[in-house]
Amino acid sequence: MTGRQLWQPLAALLFPERCPLCDEICVGGGVCGACREEAVHSPSLRSLGDGGLLCLAPYGYEGKLRDAILRFKFEGRRDYVPFFAEQIAREIRAQGLEVQGAVLTPVPMSRRKKRERGYNQSQLLAQEVGRLLGIPCAELLEKAGENQVQHFLTAEERKRNVKGVYAMKKGIDRAEVILLDDIVTTGSTLLECAGTLRQASSGLVQVRFCAALASDAKSGGCKAESGIL
Ligand SMILES: [Zn+2]
Repeated sequence: MTGRQLWQPLAALLFPERCPLCDEICVGGGVCGACREEAVHSPSLRSLGDGGLLCLAPYGYEGKLRDAILRFKFEGRRDYVPFFAEQIAREIRAQGLEVQGAVLTPVPMSRRKKRERGYNQSQLLAQEVGRLLGIPCAELLEKAGENQVQHFLTAEERKRNVKGVYAMKKGIDRAEVILLDDIVTTGSTLLECAGTLRQASSGLVQVRFCAALASDAKSGGCKAESGIL
């Protein structure tokens, strides 16, 4: 018996696969039966700002999904990436959005924050979504400075808080960019990133849509414009 053959059953005992939504042990991996029945999946497609940027998300930011995202962001649960990325990629396909010729890019995190957390969760998602969709993923943007955490700010304050915070990190060699973030609330961050990309390319690069794992349209004074599907 090889080391690998020995290790696999042992690893399954020591680190059993868990449902990403409730964190209970789930034989075979993926979402457990109970979570599947609860129909946590609630996709939305809405337009951000004055309508120039569509944003899709496979989930609403609530309940078990919210808890799962908090574990993913703050408790190092990078093992959720394949499942979450699969849901985003599936939603992009379900909406019939054309992705060929585009490059995926994550909303960046400041260097200090990334060092503290050890990873940028949006970057991990973008890499895996890109792999699933068969398109490249590149870190095109960087966060030039620190700003306040958006969470506790009003819609107007959020807009001001992200103004001028992002800068280009590298050139774009594709005609279209798809932005990816973990949670979308008012959309200020994604709109600012899209504006930075358009401006840097003198309008030559298109940013038609963006994707987030979860949409929190209820908080931050944001309203869903094209409706929740
Ligand atoms: Zn579950």
